[in-house]
Amino acid sequence: KSYASAAGPVRVLSDISLDVAAGEVCALVGPSGSGKSTLMNIVGLLDRADAGTYCLAGTVVDGQRPDALARLRNQTIGFVFQAFHLIDRLTALENVALPLKYRGVGRAERDHLAREALSRLGLSDRQQHRPGELSGGQCQRVALARAIVGRPSLLLADEPTGSLDSASAASVMALLAELNAALKLTIVVVTHDPVVADQCGRRLEIRDGRLLGAA
Ligand code: ADP
Ligand code: MG
Repeated sequence: KSYASAAGPVRVLSDISLDVAAGEVCALVGPSGSGKSTLMNIVGLLDRADAGTYCLAGTVVDGQRPDALARLRNQTIGFVFQAFHLIDRLTALENVALPLKYRGVGRAERDHLAREALSRLGLSDRQQHRPGELSGGQCQRVALARAIVGRPSLLLADEPTGSLDSASAASVMALLAELNAALKLTIVVVTHDPVVADQCGRRLEIRDGRLLGAA
């Protein structure tokens, strides 16, 4: 994967060869600028590699049209980010229900599933709160509820604990482990935090756009 620059293309990822099995929990670690987010964006169908092949949940995604990719992304992948990316004017319940709205799920079913997801994340009593009325840890749990409400098979979390105090970070990691066990969710977590990385079953290390230990 290269990005264009005034001086020509700048290569950001090279020779990435990686298999993640269903149900794995992987940490992706590496210095700032090493390509972690770029790799997550490709895995998450938010960006494309310039070469190579990518198979997601049995579907080869290379060359698929943008609308097919968007549908596959909506149905297969949940995202969590460091800065939560919640919509401030919507309640927790409305934020969580939003991906289902994009999918065309009716109002009653959306609310039912969103309540269920919030309850799984211990937020039943915060449904009508807006992000500004919640702590950072609670906001990240709302974001997690939104990420899983559509029953994805893959959860991609880019520095999910990066904005949290250590107690909230531990609670988010415990919830990830619980979701992995209960829903057989495959999880890839980008992190700088060795405590977080140690809680993952597998550790992928990237340096200058290459996975260490890979052929
Ligand atoms: P990380 O998440 O590990 O900090 P990134 O994947 O964000 O790293 O970035 C990897 C490299 O690609 C960096 O050198 C960064 O400056 C560059 N980069 C990232 N996004 C873009 C972009 N949209 N355009 C140009 N260069 C980019
Ligand atoms: Mg990054």
